[in-house]
Amino acid sequence: MPRADTDPMMPQPCMVRSVSRETPDTLTLELEPASSTSPGQAEFQPGQFSMLWVFGVGELPIAISGDPGAARSLTYTVRSVGPATRALTTRQQGQAVGVRGPFGTGWPVDSARGRDVLVVGGGIGLAPLRPVIYDVLRHRSQYGRLVILHGARSPRDLLYRKELASWDRQKDTLVLSTVDYGGSSWRGRVGVVTSLFKFVRLQPSLTTAFVCGPEIMMRFVAREMIARGLSASHLYFSMERNMKCAVGFCGHCQWGPHFICKDGPVFPYSRIAPLLDRYEL
Ligand SMILES: Cc1cc2nc3c(=O)[nH]c(=O)nc-3n(C[C@H](O)[C@H](O)[C@H](O)COP(=O)(O)OP(=O)(O)OC[C@H]3O[C@@H](n4cnc5c(N)ncnc54)[C@H](O)[C@@H]3O)c2cc1C
Repeated sequence: MPRADTDPMMPQPCMVRSVSRETPDTLTLELEPASSTSPGQAEFQPGQFSMLWVFGVGELPIAISGDPGAARSLTYTVRSVGPATRALTTRQQGQAVGVRGPFGTGWPVDSARGRDVLVVGGGIGLAPLRPVIYDVLRHRSQYGRLVILHGARSPRDLLYRKELASWDRQKDTLVLSTVDYGGSSWRGRVGVVTSLFKFVRLQPSLTTAFVCGPEIMMRFVAREMIARGLSASHLYFSMERNMKCAVGFCGHCQWGPHFICKDGPVFPYSRIAPLLDRYEL
């Protein structure tokens, strides 16, 4: 939920603190409040998003991709696909961005404590999942095994490559990546994300899964997970629709009976199974 002491429709001024390139079309931006007296917005639940406003261009929803345990700054990973994301990914250190939020439901990490955690990310879908990974690694002894499955279009589209390698070296953690098209120099796996499941031995009754990516990918992951015996109530998806207000007034992001901005973006599969199976909704 947005902070109770600020107007949820009023962007707070923030400055770009750092910019790092992830892939040719994707950057990670770290934002901090414009002044020490601005309201801090750094508290968020893994999986929540902000509305980022690039002055003179537009406002758009972007998931928070940073560490929920790190104070004051907020981190976002943005893929340039159109005018607003292009403007955001050309922001430079010291430039301003308006921020509303955080909004929406988060990944229920507390209910995953004591259980194995399976993270499945397709493309930019790994961004809203990264706070879950930070949370598990920060409280390592409170979780079981961590398995991260990630797919991208090509090797140069793989996000967080250095971090993925370092996570893979952590205790009780397995990271597997795959790409749709490898090219001649790629020595890794080629195939869709679901092709990685055959390399992983899961304990279905002890596993909580968090999934984000293109909707078609999430449909196939859901089927695969249910077929492997995972409970629908321990399977969570983050959904995406165009948004405007982000607080449940305008109806832009309506998906069946749900408003994705306030009822989601994170939903348990048990709540959305019939909707996820319907194309073009
Ligand atoms: C809750 C939520 C979290 C998001 N988190 C991230 C994130 O972490 N990083 C990131 O790069 N993007 C994220 N997005 C998507 C991002 O908001 C859109 O890519 C952005 O609004 C596109 O704006 P634009 O003006 O650049 O492009 P537009 O010109 O508006 O769109 C360019 C293309 O992208 C499609 N598109 C636009 N918005 C969406 C959308 N919401 N869902 C599906 N397709 C869309 C359009 O149909 C068009 O094909 C998120 C969206 C939601 C709803």
